[in-house]
Amino acid sequence: MCGIFGYVGKVDVGQTLVTGIRRLEYRGYDSWGVAIGGDDGLTLFRRVGRVSQVDEPFKLAAAKSWGGIAHTRWATHGEPAERNAHPHMDGAARFAIVHNGIIENHAVLRDRLRAQGCVFQGETDSEVIVHLIASLYDGRDPRAAFVGALRLLRGAYAVAMICADAPGTIFIARDSSPIVIGRADGCAVVASDPCAIVPFTRDGIYLADGEVCALREDGYRIWNLKDEPVEGVVQKLAYDLESVERGTFKHFMLKEIYEQPRTIRDAMRGRLARGSGTTRVDGLGLTEADIRRIRSIRILGCGTSWHAGLVGRYLIEEMARIPTVVEYAAEFRYAARVLEPDTLVIALSQSGETADTLGALREAKRLGATVVGLCNVVGSGIARECGRGLYLRSGPEIGVASTKAFTSQLVVLALLALHFGRVRGMSLADGVRFLDALEALPDQAEQILGNTDAIAEMGRLVAGHRNALYVGRLYEYPLALEGALKLKEISYIHAEGLPAAELKHGPIALVDKDMPVVTLAAQTGAFEKMKSNIEEIRARGGRILAVCREGSEDLRSMAERVICIPPTLDPFVPILGALPLQLMAYYAAVERGCDVDRPRNLAKSVTVE
Ligand code: GLU
Repeated sequence: MCGIFGYVGKVDVGQTLVTGIRRLEYRGYDSWGVAIGGDDGLTLFRRVGRVSQVDEPFKLAAAKSWGGIAHTRWATHGEPAERNAHPHMDGAARFAIVHNGIIENHAVLRDRLRAQGCVFQGETDSEVIVHLIASLYDGRDPRAAFVGALRLLRGAYAVAMICADAPGTIFIARDSSPIVIGRADGCAVVASDPCAIVPFTRDGIYLADGEVCALREDGYRIWNLKDEPVEGVVQKLAYDLESVERGTFKHFMLKEIYEQPRTIRDAMRGRLARGSGTTRVDGLGLTEADIRRIRSIRILGCGTSWHAGLVGRYLIEEMARIPTVVEYAAEFRYAARVLEPDTLVIALSQSGETADTLGALREAKRLGATVVGLCNVVGSGIARECGRGLYLRSGPEIGVASTKAFTSQLVVLALLALHFGRVRGMSLADGVRFLDALEALPDQAEQILGNTDAIAEMGRLVAGHRNALYVGRLYEYPLALEGALKLKEISYIHAEGLPAAELKHGPIALVDKDMPVVTLAAQTGAFEKMKSNIEEIRARGGRILAVCREGSEDLRSMAERVICIPPTLDPFVPILGALPLQLMAYYAAVERGCDVDRPRNLAKSVTVE
C-alpha cells in the first residue's frame, strides 16, 4: 500500500534515503519519515505531506550514519500526523521500524503492552510492532526479539527494522506484503518495490512469506519460519522506470480493478469474528445497546457511493431488519428532511472530502442523528467530522472512475449489516454462513480476473453502440446502475441502469437490434424472473449480454454473450459482479480511444457542491 526503502552504505545516507523513498511516493503519500543509525544511536525525522527534505540537524547526523530506513505512508489506522508517520521507535529509542500492511491483532497487543507500562505515541497498528520487539529484547540478540515479535503478529506485513545495538544491519521480514533486497558495490538496499532497487542493481532477491533477512553492506542472511537458513534466489529486476507507477498495467483504472482481490481482503482484515459468527466494527463506536435502539438508517452518498448505499440498504434490511433509506447527499441536505429519533446516518465517500456528503452529514448532525463515516482516506474531512466509522483500506485510488473503493464499500457495508444482524437476532449459523461466503470472495475475485477474454469481447461489442441498458433485480439493481455509470464515465456511451421489472413499464420501447442490454442474473433468488425478462428483451430483438453464475449454462441459448462468475450468496453478488462490469466499461473505453484515467469533465474527488 505504501513504500519502504532502506540503505546501508557510505554514500550520503540522508539524501540516498530521501531519494529512494521519493521513488515510492506514488504508493502512498500522506506522510513520510526516515530513521538512521550512527554512533550516537538512532535519529528520527518525520513529516506530514509529500516527501521533501530533511532538516539540518538530521543531515548532520546522517553524515556520520551507516544507513537507515525510510517510509512513505498511506494510512489505514490513525490519521496522517507526525506521531503516526513511520518509522516508529520504542520508548528507549533502541529500535526503529517501518511497516507496510495491516496488523489485525493490534488492539489486543496494544492493551497487553500498555499493561506492561508501554507508552504509545500514536494510533497506528504498526506502532505495536516496535514496542513488542523492545519488550522481547534481552539486550543481546535483536534478531531474536524481531522474530519473537513477528510470531505474535497476525495480518499482512513487510517490516524493516534497525537497532542501535546492531550497527550496519537492517532486519527485514515479510508476510503477504512484497519486499525485495539488493546488493551493489559498497552498499545494500531493501525496498517494497523493485523500482527503488533498480537504480542500484538489477539483481534482486524477493523474500518469501515467513522469511527473515539480516542485510548488511557486505552481504545478507535469510532464515525461514523455523529459523533455518535459506538461500535467497537472485532474480533480474527488469523494471521500466517510466511505467513504475502503473506497474505493468496500461492504465491506473485497470491496475486498480486488478487490485481488488487484495483490497477486498484488506477491507475484512481483523474484522471477522468467526467463533461468534459476527464481525468487529468497533470503529463505529456503537455498543450493542446502541445498535438495538436504532429505529431507522439513512445512507447518504453521491455517484458510485450512492450505488454502494443502495446495496447497503438491501444488506441491512435483510440481515439486520432495520428500515433503511438511501439518499443523494445533496438532496438530503437541502430538502426539508424529517429524521425520526434514533436514526443512524451513514455517510459514504471514497475521498472523505465530497462536499455534498460533508454538507449532508452536518445537516444530519444538526437534526440530532448519530453519524458514522465509511470512507477510504484516513483523517479526511468526513472521517474527522463524524469522529467514528470504518475505513475502506483500499489504498490510493487514482483512476477517476471508482472501482476498488466501490467493492470495499460493499464489503464494509456487509460487515456492518452482519454485525447489526447478529446483535438483533440473526442466528449464529446464519452469521457463520455469511462469514464463509465473505472469506471466499478474494479468491473468487481472483478467479474472475484470471480469465477476462469474454469480458473484453463484450466491452468491444458495446463500444460499437451509442446506447446500452443494464438491468438487474434486488442486489443486482444497484449493480446495474453502477455498471451503467462506469460505461458513461469512461466511454461516453449513453447507458441506463434499471430494475429489470421496470423495463416493461416504459424503457422496453427503446429496445431494438441496436440496443445491447446487459442483463445481470447471478443471484439464485431472482434467476427465474430474470430469465423471463431476458425473453422479453429477446422478443424485441435486443442484444443480450448476460452476467450469470457458473452453472446457469442454459442462459447460453438465450444470450448473445455470457460471462459467468463464481457462486456466492445473493447479498455478495454485487461484489463479484462489479468486476466484469468495470472491465467491460474499461475495454469499451479503450476500444473507443478514450482517456480512461482522466475522463472528460470529471474530477476524482468532488469537493465543490
Ligand atoms: N497500517 C499502517 C498504518 O496505518 C501502514 C499503512 C501502509 O501500509 O501505508 O500506518
